[in-house]
Amino acid sequence: MKNNLHIYNTLTKKKEKFEAIKPPFVGLYVCGPTVYSDVHLGNMRTFNSFDIVYRYLIHLGYKVHYVRNITDVGHLVGDGDDGDDKIEKKAKQEQIEPMQIAQKYTNDFKNISYLFNLKNPDIEPTATGHIIEQIEMVQKIIKNGYAYVKNGSVYFDVKKYMEKYDYGTLSGRKVDELLEQTREELEGSSEKKFFADFVIWKNASKDKLMKWNNPWGEGVPGWHIECSVMSTKYLGEKFDIHGGGMDLKFPHHECEIAQNVGATGVAPVNYWMHTNMLTVNGTKMSKSIGNSFLPHELFTGNHPLLERGYSPMVVKFFMLQSHYSSTLDFSNKALQAAEKGFQRLMKAYKLSSSLVSNKTNNEETDKKIEEIRANTYAEMDNDFNTAKTIAQLFEMASLINKINDKSINVSENGLKILQQTMKDFIEDVLGLKQEESKTNETLVGVMDLILDIRKNAREDKDWTTSDLIRDKLKELDIKVKDAIDGASWEV
Ligand code: AMP
Ligand code: ZN
Repeated sequence: MKNNLHIYNTLTKKKEKFEAIKPPFVGLYVCGPTVYSDVHLGNMRTFNSFDIVYRYLIHLGYKVHYVRNITDVGHLVGDGDDGDDKIEKKAKQEQIEPMQIAQKYTNDFKNISYLFNLKNPDIEPTATGHIIEQIEMVQKIIKNGYAYVKNGSVYFDVKKYMEKYDYGTLSGRKVDELLEQTREELEGSSEKKFFADFVIWKNASKDKLMKWNNPWGEGVPGWHIECSVMSTKYLGEKFDIHGGGMDLKFPHHECEIAQNVGATGVAPVNYWMHTNMLTVNGTKMSKSIGNSFLPHELFTGNHPLLERGYSPMVVKFFMLQSHYSSTLDFSNKALQAAEKGFQRLMKAYKLSSSLVSNKTNNEETDKKIEEIRANTYAEMDNDFNTAKTIAQLFEMASLINKINDKSINVSENGLKILQQTMKDFIEDVLGLKQEESKTNETLVGVMDLILDIRKNAREDKDWTTSDLIRDKLKELDIKVKDAIDGASWEV
């Protein structure tokens, strides 16, 4: 297949031309959510970035097999080998079944994905649905000599592995550094032979709610084994692209590689992709730090750090205006700018369908349209640069406005290319859509007007009108908040 797509491969730390293993097929695996709480906006930034990868590959003509798992067992609090399972802990707190927790937050994730217009993956396998396969892979690793059993748990033998393979390449952890720490770190750790060994199967005590019979007793899979198993099962021992947030590079993805190599002898992935973090005042958005926004809080504006709500497409547009490999800092100002930009772009898109062509003086515009189309592909080909792709679409938007006010002419063919480019990139590749939202442009304008009228009434001490406006808005679920510097509103 012909393409000029280049991907920054976090394994080789180079931008490389994309060559599929078996074109036109592409295997894409992305680590999905751990379903123990609502997904926050940071999580959604990562899933949105891979939705773009999926969409663009499809647009280029590939037949993509997109697998994104649901982690419903094995991911422990603190991301390490000890402690409570995140889902089990929540289930105990709420005194309900762990699977009820998993179901609730899987549903939440699907609803939010729908609002952001993310495409469904082809397969969404769960860790609990692949217990037998996980046991089988653990057995294979033991058989190959890269894992050992201790008190009903199974550990990956990193030292043994390092005799033949490199460990730490993806995350940049140096083997020598690991070895130096050995003695210190081993103190206090009872079961591991080497501190860098990691659990691939974990013994479960009697009081655990989630556990399965297995050859070593009763227990649960380690966090990393599910992704090794499900990617291999559905995409083969070697597949094209594996993605996740960069906080997953170590230990999760490093361990995944070791497990796959330990079981099959094959390094599983050709292109590793890692998205950068959504931050709040420079700090990673994270549930445990307490600086996270839930998508719903953003849509309603119901959060202390938010001045008002923003629609899902505006939030999505805000995220797409930065490259996935850069950090993206959240701010009200940036969201307001994104809202204006999104509305400007969608207005031009709508207008593009009603433009008319002219038979003369159209060469320059036609040339410019061709150029913009080619540039838009070039930007996406350059490691999915959505920020620069959007800049090209704004170039097209200004042409649309000029054609509309008749200051330039376009040929029939030029117009077709213009319309196709807008559709291809806005809808198919970026997954943006026109939306009927409570917080759309019209509502914002009307609310500005109403609050102005109320402000005048208050200045005239006309409390009856002021209170009437507030009470009537309340009936419509619009809350007016008075403050020293003026009134604001939220739905
Ligand atoms: P989890 O549900 O914790 O397994 O995370 C799901 C995905 O969200 C993973 O790929 C994480 O790397 C990613 N993620 C977590 N926090 C952020 C953040 N602040 N910005 C972007 N991605 C994140
Ligand atoms: Zn994973």
